[in-house]
Amino acid sequence: MNLNDYRGVLVFVEQRSNEIQNVSLELLGKGRKIADELGVSLMAVLPGYEAKKHAKLLVEYGADKVILVDDKALEIFTTEPYTQALVKVINDEKPEVVLFGATSIGRDLAPRISARLQTGLTADCTSLEVDEDRMLLMTRPAFGGNIMATIVSPDHRPQMSTVRPGVMTKLERDATRKGEIVHVDMKFEKNSQYVEVISFEQETEEKMDIQESNVLISGGRGVGSAENFSLLYDLADELSGLVSASRAAVDSGWMDHDRQVGQTGKTVRPNLYLACGISGAIQHVAGMEEADLIIAINKDKGAPIFDVSDLGIVGDVHKVLPFVIEEIKKI
Ligand code: FAD
Repeated sequence: MNLNDYRGVLVFVEQRSNEIQNVSLELLGKGRKIADELGVSLMAVLPGYEAKKHAKLLVEYGADKVILVDDKALEIFTTEPYTQALVKVINDEKPEVVLFGATSIGRDLAPRISARLQTGLTADCTSLEVDEDRMLLMTRPAFGGNIMATIVSPDHRPQMSTVRPGVMTKLERDATRKGEIVHVDMKFEKNSQYVEVISFEQETEEKMDIQESNVLISGGRGVGSAENFSLLYDLADELSGLVSASRAAVDSGWMDHDRQVGQTGKTVRPNLYLACGISGAIQHVAGMEEADLIIAINKDKGAPIFDVSDLGIVGDVHKVLPFVIEEIKKI
């Protein structure tokens, strides 16, 4: 393999129900920075059906070139057609770096593509940097979050990684940014549709993604029971936010796993993160420390959560929360 044949940074843009996912815009932000450091162009590949209306948005968020692969077979994500589309684009464009969101779709797709291209993949990255030899340094937590491992791919291209949603920052949208938009026609391999989509159910309001919410009211073991979470829901309603939880609360069956924040849950970056009865274990903090404003309520003044909080309230959640809700209602 001649490594010099590979140039450019390519971001896989994820759409669900024809809505661009936030993580893809975050990756365009990081991809822009990497592309500028390498002195190469940033490509965004968007597989979907009738998704071309989004192409301009991707340019406005940093892409130099948007590659649309528009086909009915790509309307709803299934692994095989998406894999074929991405493999074709990567083989045509030969980027040196390819980035995916570490979402359920990205985690399914990226390993298959890396296997077909016979290159490596670093999953679940929390940091990406370029070194003086143009090598991508891909960093991710390892050994239960006790160390951060930096992984490189010296002999293979492209260098591929999945990146956790919420850890990279998207650029300011800039309507004056200019970029090229191209269409790629796909000829899928015969019988490549191994999975037939029989029906599609839209997520309900209650299933809204905590990664998309600007306000999170998060509960831990200190909340005490599933019933006690009603206080957190009341406050979330007042602030137009969502309720999330620590792993201890999820393991106790008080909250769905898709609301878990942390190393084995989701990485979140809301404007406000209110931690109620959460101790602040390293694995929890890894998922919320990038929030703009962190407020903690804990009855133990030595709880580590206070070390990462902007504001701390030492007290019993069952007394503090009703007071806060009453005060907010007065505003
Ligand atoms: P606890 O640690 O039990 O803390 C409860 C806190 O509530 C205490 O600080 C206590 O002082 C306070 N409290 C009690 N009663 C009240 C009250 N009435 N009012 C106010 N405060 C009160 N954890 C995650 O959250 N997310 C993860 O993704 C995650 N991944 C992990 C991955 C691995 C490999 C491992 C080993 C662990 C992981 N953990 C994760 C678990 C983590 O180590 C902690 O065990 C967990 O975060 C603790 O949850 P907690 O803070 O709710 O409970």
